[in-house]
Amino acid sequence: MRPARALIDLQALRHNYRLARQHAGAKALAVIKADAYGHGAVRVAEALQGEADGYAVACIEEALELRAAGIQGPILLLEGFFEADELELIVEHDLWCVVHALWQVEAIERAALGKPLNLWLKLDSGMHRVGLFPAEYPAAYQRLLTSGKAAQITLMTHFARADELDCPRSEEQLAVFQAATQGLNAPTSLNNSPALLGWPQIKSDWVRPGIMLYGATPFDRPQPLADQLRAVMTLESKVINLRELPAGEPVGYGATYITERPSRIGVVAMGYADGYPRHAPTGTPVIIDGQRSRLLGRVSMDMLCVDLTHLPQAGLGSRVEFWGPNLSASEVAAQAGAIPYQLFCNLKRVPRLYADD
Ligand SMILES: *Cc1c(COP(=O)(O)O)cnc(C)c1O
Repeated sequence: MRPARALIDLQALRHNYRLARQHAGAKALAVIKADAYGHGAVRVAEALQGEADGYAVACIEEALELRAAGIQGPILLLEGFFEADELELIVEHDLWCVVHALWQVEAIERAALGKPLNLWLKLDSGMHRVGLFPAEYPAAYQRLLTSGKAAQITLMTHFARADELDCPRSEEQLAVFQAATQGLNAPTSLNNSPALLGWPQIKSDWVRPGIMLYGATPFDRPQPLADQLRAVMTLESKVINLRELPAGEPVGYGATYITERPSRIGVVAMGYADGYPRHAPTGTPVIIDGQRSRLLGRVSMDMLCVDLTHLPQAGLGSRVEFWGPNLSASEVAAQAGAIPYQLFCNLKRVPRLYADD
């Protein structure tokens, strides 16, 4: 059997969820959109059952997968509905729903619903992607209130630059949020992972941690709280072939790496078809039998090469960790011009093995 696999540590996941909840002193929706950032949404939701205050996904397709698997409790649709006919299913499956545009307010007003909805009215406080503008926001809130279609309205916004710890933008967005929601008596939801970890002065009733649940830091530098997170996914494989080459020999497609000295090279069963980033350059760190080494040459679809020259004890069958407890996905991502979110979401083909002890 091909040795490439992703180990998923559900204890670490719960540790990270608890850290989010405790530090925020708020209720926390576990953000498990995009198949729980590649970790498997159903398994992740199950591991947090009885503990999570609720879940958040991108769309109704993701929510229905969870309901079909027996997941109970609140599930928030972070982009609301895409078409008005989803409202019936939202009621039927007891889903919570973001409202980020005026056309959605109108659709809710027009809909004949069996039950009032739990709505999260999103403000565009400066991200300029979705959300009502500050000038439209209070009126939209009143319309939902008087429509009789809302059982509960939560006031929500999203930060664009909370991962930049020196950037004043999050404080500016907070001020816009506070001004636009002044006088509205309703719960709030502001924090994604970086806002939760890095901006303790930004408080809300509901936080929405995503990447931190999976143990990856959203920051580009050490940060005391983020450094307490535990990696949930270990991407690993094994050395399947060895090459001893003299200096001056090319390795892999395009000969982008040429041996600088007599070299011992390990070929590993891992490639971009598994989700390992193709743009990771020579020098990207890997862990071989517990010791740091580096990628050599271009990543291929199913294989890649690593340097074993300084690791004489390593050989056929040596274990290679690409990210996990000993090497952060954030560090690898930075090398590849990516972010840990993207590495996790790109995971494919490799079997996911779950551990819960
Ligand atoms: C994805 C998402 C989150 C989670 O963001 P992280 O940076 O992964 O914590 C929170 N809120 C909204 C609206 C999102 O779309």
